[in-house]
Amino acid sequence: MAERDEKVAEELKQIRITEIGDCPRKLYYRLYNFPASKPHFTSIRGTIVHSQAEQLITEGDIIDTSKDALLRDKALECDERTFELALSEANQIYVPQIKRWLSKTSLLKGEQPRLHQRISLNYKDFIVTGEIDCYTSKALIEFKTGRYSYAMLKKHALQLAGYEWLLNRAENRYLARDWYVIYLKELREQEVPKHLAAEMRKKFEKLLKEEIKVRREILEGKSMGACKLSFRCVYCKYRGICPGI
Ligand code: SF4
Repeated sequence: MAERDEKVAEELKQIRITEIGDCPRKLYYRLYNFPASKPHFTSIRGTIVHSQAEQLITEGDIIDTSKDALLRDKALECDERTFELALSEANQIYVPQIKRWLSKTSLLKGEQPRLHQRISLNYKDFIVTGEIDCYTSKALIEFKTGRYSYAMLKKHALQLAGYEWLLNRAENRYLARDWYVIYLKELREQEVPKHLAAEMRKKFEKLLKEEIKVRREILEGKSMGACKLSFRCVYCKYRGICPGI
């Protein structure tokens, strides 16, 4: 196998939870190193807010405001001006909201929350990976900077279904945690209803099977289908080159 093909095959073995159900064309561009645009402002701001939430929960304050600490692997892709603007919005709008949420939530009481945990698991010759914002012995928690709508809650519940799937297999036991999405902008602590969680567990398992199928098709050289989630094109880092939008 040529070196390039081996690298692609290696990458294909790594399935990120956030890629499941996402645009297959995006995966194709990433694998073959197509030129990507800089991360969208919203994505930069979201990463900063997540890092700030993490520091506020673990340290009680924001102790490291450096670009590297707040943006992690996105730091190199983001210019100073965008970082400053996103940080300013995060400080003005989101930090006060995170503090308000922390002062009134009961989700973390008596718990030692685990934050930004990266979990990898071998599954059917693939490695499934996810980074969970926050979990306790009773709850899986996602932070979001966007606003609540039922359509968005469904999308976020699918992500949580993936994390639950991953975490329970990694811990080698089934723990019935409740799922919450914290919509920070409007300070809404939204529990995912049980019927929706059940629906998303099934949907996740179906999409994971499809994801594995798509990856095998890429290896066989088949072309990718069009994006079924065109609203995501706005934030996609391949929006500069993709004819799909
Ligand atoms: S721009 Fe849209 S269609 Fe193209 S790769 Fe991104 S999400 Fe998919």
